[in-house]
Amino acid sequence: MGKATVLDGKALAEQRLAPQKARALALTKRLGRPPGLVVVRVGDDAASQIYVRYKMRRAQAVGMQAEVVHLPQSASAAEVGERLAALAAAAYVDAALLQLPLPPGLPTAALLARMDPDKDVDGLHPRSVAALYSGTPGPRPCTAPAVLHLLRATGRPLQGCHAVVVGRSAIVGRPIALLLLQQDATVTLCHAQTRDLAAHVRRADVLVVAAGSPELIAGDWIKEGATVIDVGINRREDGLCGDVDFAAAARRAAFITPVPGGVGPLTVAMVIDNALDLAAARAAAAGL
Ligand code: NAD
Repeated sequence: MGKATVLDGKALAEQRLAPQKARALALTKRLGRPPGLVVVRVGDDAASQIYVRYKMRRAQAVGMQAEVVHLPQSASAAEVGERLAALAAAAYVDAALLQLPLPPGLPTAALLARMDPDKDVDGLHPRSVAALYSGTPGPRPCTAPAVLHLLRATGRPLQGCHAVVVGRSAIVGRPIALLLLQQDATVTLCHAQTRDLAAHVRRADVLVVAAGSPELIAGDWIKEGATVIDVGINRREDGLCGDVDFAAAARRAAFITPVPGGVGPLTVAMVIDNALDLAAARAAAAGL
């Protein structure tokens, strides 16, 4: 192990538990029922099943009404769309989420657009994406606020620093880059076609990696004293690992997240924050 301070995402997520319980209790009084979260899962993706279980467990622990709608791998776009429309209409549902990835062949973007944007806990409805882009209020895809939460825990300002994000997916890398830009970081967004990735990484004061490629980032690429946030989750025979060579990177970084126990638990906590925000907005809109 090196000199870096390990950012304990699990502990930070646990610290959010008490305030979330208090918010859920206050909302239960306002709404006359617990705030409701429904996750729609389609098919048999093994990792999705685990992530959904974590979200359910957390929602129940804070006192929300949490439910999974599981549709078979063979479900048609029309069937999934009807379920989403039913959730949009259901009064007891404050927050809904379509767990991705969907089975091949289902139109992800069209189905996300069928969700009620007022219940869009993952921030992936076109209206939420527009709000993210323009920096106006709205739910953000949960990994991005989780990364910001970890960066805040370092106590270092983001303003003016050089942040390098590796990975540009619409769900993870791009929202992270946009939030960092809104925090006045100077952002470089790298992806699979980037030439000389190492040269970009070497200039990062803040490095966020969300590529899904085991130990893509070598330890000697890390700038001395950098903050390293590893979003990647890769399954190998010897267990989970991230996208960064943790042991070698920890010898150069000032702060680093572990995998598991870094971004993952905080992402689940941010799902609940978003769901409670949506429930509060619905209560206010109903004059409660
Ligand atoms: P994705 O496959 O949709 O996107 C991967 C991105 O990384 C792409 O933009 C691609 O261009 C880039 N990339 C891939 N290989 C690269 C390389 N060799 N060099 C540079 N860029 C490269 O994946 P995603 O959904 O964005 O997820 C990324 C990773 O984050 C995965 O490991 C996933 O499991 C993990 N993840 C973690 C959490 C969490 O809570 N910790 C949440 C979501 C996703």
